[in-house]
Amino acid sequence: MHTRIFIGLTVGVIAGLLCNSLFRESPALKWLIRNLISPFGQIFLRIIFMAVIPLIFSALALGVAELGDVRRLGRIGLRTFVYCLIITTLSVVIGISLVQIVRPGTGLSDADRQMLLAAVTTSAAKATVEQAAQAKSLVEVLLNLIPKNPFADAAHAFDEGYTGGGILALMVCALFVGVALALVRSERTEVFERFLQGLYDVVMKIIQIAMKLAPYGVACLVFSVVAQLGLDVIVLLGKYVAVVVVGLALQMFGVYSLALKYVIKTSPREFFQRIGEVILTAFSTSSSNATLPVALRVTQENLGVSRRVAGFVLTLGSTANQNGTALFEGVTVLFLAQFFGIELTPTQQVTVVLASVLAGIGTAGVPGGSLPVIVLVLQSVGVPGEGIGVILGVDRFLDMCRTTVNVTGDITAALYVEKRESNFAPNPLSTVSPQP
Ligand code: ASP
Repeated sequence: MHTRIFIGLTVGVIAGLLCNSLFRESPALKWLIRNLISPFGQIFLRIIFMAVIPLIFSALALGVAELGDVRRLGRIGLRTFVYCLIITTLSVVIGISLVQIVRPGTGLSDADRQMLLAAVTTSAAKATVEQAAQAKSLVEVLLNLIPKNPFADAAHAFDEGYTGGGILALMVCALFVGVALALVRSERTEVFERFLQGLYDVVMKIIQIAMKLAPYGVACLVFSVVAQLGLDVIVLLGKYVAVVVVGLALQMFGVYSLALKYVIKTSPREFFQRIGEVILTAFSTSSSNATLPVALRVTQENLGVSRRVAGFVLTLGSTANQNGTALFEGVTVLFLAQFFGIELTPTQQVTVVLASVLAGIGTAGVPGGSLPVIVLVLQSVGVPGEGIGVILGVDRFLDMCRTTVNVTGDITAALYVEKRESNFAPNPLSTVSPQP
């Protein structure tokens, strides 16, 4: 599967680049993408999204219920939180240091600057700003995490303009259900727990069926992006794109490898080999939530992490631990400040760091989830929110890269918690052989 998805990805990229250079302006190509290729990619994505809500609910509630007692839950929760906070902070520090050293927002030629400024007034930029304007105060955001109506949060979880708690609120509801299940053990609750297990199995099966479409779906998704984008816009913003990509690579292969080797005590190379399918799925879907089912399966089957730890850490992490997104947000805010010639005071820079760390927790795990959050951070430090238009053209590509880092970070967290829970007993990597 791993290899077939990779082939799909490569075909998508090459065919996309070819079509972009040969027929970029052709209406036929646009028609084909809009009516055939992109919808086919969407079929694959939508089947996965269809399964995400029941999966998140059942995986998290079961994960918590199976932990057995609430003290254990507290310990695992704390370990997950501390680990994620540290790697997210490192990620933001890497991004911000790079953007301060390279200063990609300065030194653009006048022609390029004018071309980019034109994007500030586009309707897409304005829509993102409007969406951000609907955001609530911090107190409201926190209150919304406790859902008044979890069904409403589940129903609107993927709606762009929804300002309720969404997926995070649904997770809180699942946590409550899991804790209550662990506390009341009776014949009747056993029936409910078995129902959740059945739901989990059914949903995983649906995903398995959807994944048969993955190589084709991935090819179509990537083709649609590349054929329309091409390389021009990436070259235009070359330094900025390079800073984000190098930062993400340092986090992925530097920070994670060090954590794997010295904290988790396992081989980084073997780790990356075993999670190949997750990396490819994250890269091509640009969505941590859509990658969750694959991450859950691969982490259990190929890394030997127990279902209760994977169910808890990965499910929460798919929304609340996004290291790549945090790095991207820090870099983008400072880049746009440089672009508009706004010098940020040290206090404002600290605000950007803190806001980026928080953004890693609050960003929805869907394509482009971080854009409204960036607008909020931009406005809070006095940079025009519409500036987001400057980077919209390259966002999809960067989204693919940061989502990969987000999901990989979640898996290292799950492996870390598993090792700590088993007191570093056998190496989870060496006790399982990867599934074919
Ligand atoms: N697409 C990212 C994810 O799902 C979120 C974002 O940074 O836009 O992890």
